[in-house]
Amino acid sequence: MTTSQTPRIETRSTQEWQAADARHFLHPFTDHKALAAKGARIIERADNIYLWDSNGQKILDAMSGLWCVNVGYGQRALIEAATRQMSELPFYNAFFQTATVPAIELAEALAAIAPPGFERVFYTCSGSEANDTIVRMVRRFWDIEGRPQRKKIIGRVNGYHGSTMAGASLGGMSAMHAQGGLPIPDIHHIQQPHWFELGRHVSREDFGLLAAGWLEARILELGPENVAAFIGEPVQGAGGVIVPPASYWPEIERICRRYDILLVSDEVICGFGRSGQWFGCETLGFTPDLIAFAKGVSSGYIPLGGVLVGERVARALVDEGGEFEHGFTYSGHPTACAVALANLRLLRQLNLPRQVGHETGPYLAEQFAALAAEHALVGEAQSCGLMGALQLVRDKATLAPFAAARAVGMLCRGHCFGNGLIMRAVGDRMIVAPPLVITRAQIDEMMALIRRCLDLTLDELRTRGWLGV
Ligand SMILES: *Cc1c(COP(=O)(O)O)cnc(C)c1O
Repeated sequence: MTTSQTPRIETRSTQEWQAADARHFLHPFTDHKALAAKGARIIERADNIYLWDSNGQKILDAMSGLWCVNVGYGQRALIEAATRQMSELPFYNAFFQTATVPAIELAEALAAIAPPGFERVFYTCSGSEANDTIVRMVRRFWDIEGRPQRKKIIGRVNGYHGSTMAGASLGGMSAMHAQGGLPIPDIHHIQQPHWFELGRHVSREDFGLLAAGWLEARILELGPENVAAFIGEPVQGAGGVIVPPASYWPEIERICRRYDILLVSDEVICGFGRSGQWFGCETLGFTPDLIAFAKGVSSGYIPLGGVLVGERVARALVDEGGEFEHGFTYSGHPTACAVALANLRLLRQLNLPRQVGHETGPYLAEQFAALAAEHALVGEAQSCGLMGALQLVRDKATLAPFAAARAVGMLCRGHCFGNGLIMRAVGDRMIVAPPLVITRAQIDEMMALIRRCLDLTLDELRTRGWLGV
């Protein structure tokens, strides 16, 4: 086990930190007025899968920060890689026919773990920028191919691809689209492969084919000659850990090939072992043309993202395309790349993708299934590797949902927060994605906390008279 016990230098009270926070810090995806009234929770330090807040409370971080701290907190190898690289060469760009050693080494290491045919990488600083890059790259690809009319990109309702103009447009979050005039032109959406919400009248496998068929219908409606690409997360993360039926992705791939449309896998969450293999497309059974990555590539210790470019696009871009007019100051940032390289080495050394695929992932699935079988609030449990969801329902027999306005998920999340567990609520789906270093014993500890918080939620719902009505 690792430690990170560096003493804090600043000593202000929690209230003082909260007041300064409310005055100056505009948080992402936050109602500022509501937060100011309540006060932010100040997280001060972390080790392994645990966090400590400024009141000294220990919290089991079942969300890996924000789906990213795959190797857990306090890993010396990553900390030392950053320190070493910062001392030697903290930054240099890659614009003007120069390169740095960590950027080259990481590109090589990524090619080695990527599915066959992915030999090239374009670096960004985040998942959003990776998806912005993909929009520009697929449109550039079709220009080079002499079919510039292929501009339209199809994403999915309730998909998440980031928060920049292009990222938020590719995603299908209606609340995001409502602010800022999104989506940008030539982005279209089809329904998500969410069996619990949309497909309970048919078997899961039949629903998978049906949901993939929505893509074909939309392609035909738009005209295949106008469609550049389809983008999806192997398992939708921010949308609520929606694991599609096994029939879905192979059928999506078949449809993309049939109409010669590029297939993009957004692996920002699913990549780097979370699904039980290095990449989610391997677990879900398809081969994309482009892969977006971020989060787990550096275990969140430092911002880094990018695009893994498959053979077909790489050939056009490299051999025929001339200059690609795109890039970021920090594309290939040496310190970020050095940390990511140390992270990949550690993931391999600890054999984490395999451990998730064969041990801890199946164990979590078992525990979730047992909970779904017995707990009155849980209508469905789903998981893939180390990401999982519990669907809360008003009536277990009929699977009737709670009214959205009652915000039962948020109520449950409140109990988790109060009891030392970070679990996220997406509507009434309670989701987890713990660090990949979590052990079986720690999964037991997490499950005990989850049970306690579900029980507390159930008690509160009974008191309020919200069950079965
Ligand atoms: C988080 C996320 C992104 C956006 O990444 P940022 O680093 O926040 O820009 C994109 N796609 C998926 C699937 C994500 O989960």
